This record gives sequence, C-alpha cells and structure tokens, in this order.
Amino acid sequence: MSLVNRLLVTGLPAVPKPIVRRVASRYVAGETLADAVRVVRSLNEQGAMGTIDVLGEEVKEREKAMAAVEEYLRVFDAIDRERLDSNVSIKLTLLGLKIDESFCRDNVERIVAKAGEYGNFVRIDMEDHTTTDATLRIYHDLFPRHGNLGVVLQSYMRRTLGDIAALPQQGASVRLCKGIYVEPRALAWKEYDSVRANFVVALEKLLDQGVYPAIATHDEYLVCRAVGLIDKHGLRRERYEFQMLLGVAEEMRRILIAAGHRLRVYVPYGRDWYPSSMRRLRENPEVARDVLRAMLAGPSGR
Ligand SMILES: Cc1cc2nc3c(=O)[nH]c(=O)nc-3n(C[C@H](O)[C@H](O)[C@H](O)COP(=O)(O)OP(=O)(O)OC[C@H]3O[C@@H](n4cnc5c(N)ncnc54)[C@H](O)[C@@H]3O)c2cc1C
Repeated sequence: MSLVNRLLVTGLPAVPKPIVRRVASRYVAGETLADAVRVVRSLNEQGAMGTIDVLGEEVKEREKAMAAVEEYLRVFDAIDRERLDSNVSIKLTLLGLKIDESFCRDNVERIVAKAGEYGNFVRIDMEDHTTTDATLRIYHDLFPRHGNLGVVLQSYMRRTLGDIAALPQQGASVRLCKGIYVEPRALAWKEYDSVRANFVVALEKLLDQGVYPAIATHDEYLVCRAVGLIDKHGLRRERYEFQMLLGVAEEMRRILIAAGHRLRVYVPYGRDWYPSSMRRLRENPEVARDVLRAMLAGPSGR
C-alpha cells in the first residue's frame, strides 16, 4: 500500500459518519428491503442478476441471528412477489456461527428450505480463516439435502485447492474470489501475483471437476483469463457466471453482459451499513480515495 493510501486508511476512524454514509451509498443499496428490491430491479433491467445480502456479521445474541433469518425469509418473499432475478448471499457469523455451530446450521437450513420452496438459491459467503472449517462443515452437511446451496472459496487461501478437491461430485456451485480479510502468511498467499495465479489454477480445477463457477472479480487480468478458460472448455452461458460488487467496475460489467456472459451483482442492504462500510474502507484504498473526494466535495456532496 502506498504512503498516500496508508495515510488515508489510518485517518478513516476520524471520518464523519455522514461522509462514510455518502460513500457507502454507492456500494450499499440502502437500509431497507425496499431499497434492495429497487436496486435489483434496476440491475435486472440492465441485464444483470442480483444476489441480495442482509448486512451484519459477528452476531453474539441468538435473537439477532433469528431476526436475520426472518429478514432473509422476507427477502425470498419479495424476490418472488416482485419477480426479480436474484438469489441471496448469507454470512454465517450473522446467523449465529460464533454462538453455536448447530444453531447456525439450523438457521441456514431454514433459509435454504425457504429458497427451495421458491426454486431459488443460497450462497454462503466465506469470512475470515477462523470460520473456514465450520463454514465448509455446514455446507457439506446441508448440501446432500439442499442442492440449492453454494459456497465461496478464496484464492488467497493456501488450502483452497484441497477444498476444491473435497467438493461434492455432482451439482456443486462455488463462488471463487480473491478474499477480502487480512490473513496470516502461514495460511494465505500474500503477493498480488500469487493470489492471481492461484485464482487461475483454482478456476481451472473447478472447471475440470465440473463445478459451476461464479467468477467474482473486477480484476481485468482475471476476467480475461476466465474468458479464455470458458472458451477453452466450450462452456455454454448457463454453466458459469461472473459476479461483481455493487458500485464497482460498472463499465466492465456492461462489457461482459454485452458480450453475452451472465453477470450477477452483489447487493447489500440493511441498517448495519456503518461497520461493514468501515471495514471495506479500511481494506480498499480505492474506496478510501472516494472518502477523500467526498470530503473535498463538502457537505452538499457535489
Ligand atoms: C460478488 C462478490 C462476492 C464476494 N464475496 C466474498 C466472500 O464471500 N468472501 C471474501 O473474502 N471476499 C469476497 N469478495 C471480495 C473479493 O474477495 C475481493 O476482495 C474483491 O473482489 C477485490 O478483488 P478483485 O478480484 O476485484 O481484485 P482487486 O485487484 O482487488 O481489484 C481490481 C480492481 O477492482 C476495483 N475494486 C475491487 N474491489 C473494490 C471495492 N471493494 N471497492 C471499490 N473498488 C474495488 C479496484 O478498482 C481494483 O483496482 C467478493 C467479491 C465479489 C465481487
């Protein structure tokens, strides 16, 4: 990270909440389900699919985890009612993973069962390395009963090729991303090029195993490599998808859609936007620059 970026990131805690809110508004649909519905409808009109995420993580109280489950059930009702092309993404620490693993698994199962009633799909996001084993245990436990469940693997994790080898033989769906948490070198590739290289190796392995890949990256090099592998494997467009975050790389999103690829946008919403936005600001200097721009623009936000 450059000195300028480091200074920006260090100064973030002092950034006034309204400024964070203004920057976050580009990356978060809003505070309510109605906001998420509005954003996904607009994405659908632009030819993109959605995956809706209820913001929140690291929940310590059962009541909060259960409230999140209820919210996800409402999300599926809304997707169906509004005829949206969208599935959902869930974070296990919002659903009680740090409270009790079997409590969390039951919560996930309620959400996946509801998705199944609507013929819809649930993707389990991958969080930091302290949760990887439990996340994969819950995925492997539920998948035989709920084929409409997918998981995420991170190319910065050294274990990922082994985790791919252990995937279910039929019907697995994996979102492959670089990984967003700060992990120790003992567990994770740290160099930019190593993470990229492992992304390509992991994607090839997913394709060789017949896994449905959701290729989640805004890195043009990786998009280019992925397009090459899709061509080499002769994949039909229903056999894979690209994924991007709301508010990021919108031009590349349009280019991929115009070229005939399917693309899904991650659409987070909820009242818990502040902690997750701060995490994103800390981890991505590009976003920290947005903060600086917003501060210089002044209170009117021009
Ligand atoms: C749909 C989706 C789901 C994800 N789910 C997970 C998950 O479950 N677990 C997990 O650990 N990580 C997840 N990630 C995050 C991912 O691991 C990376 O941290 C993130 O996508 C940046 O990596 P990149 O491949 O885009 O490459 P980078 O080299 O980091 O980014 C390439 C370019 O994209 C732009 N960019 C990338 N990210 C951002 C951003 N956040 N804000 C603004 N600009 C940005 C920048 O211009 C950058 O130069 C997800 C990403 C996507 C797209």
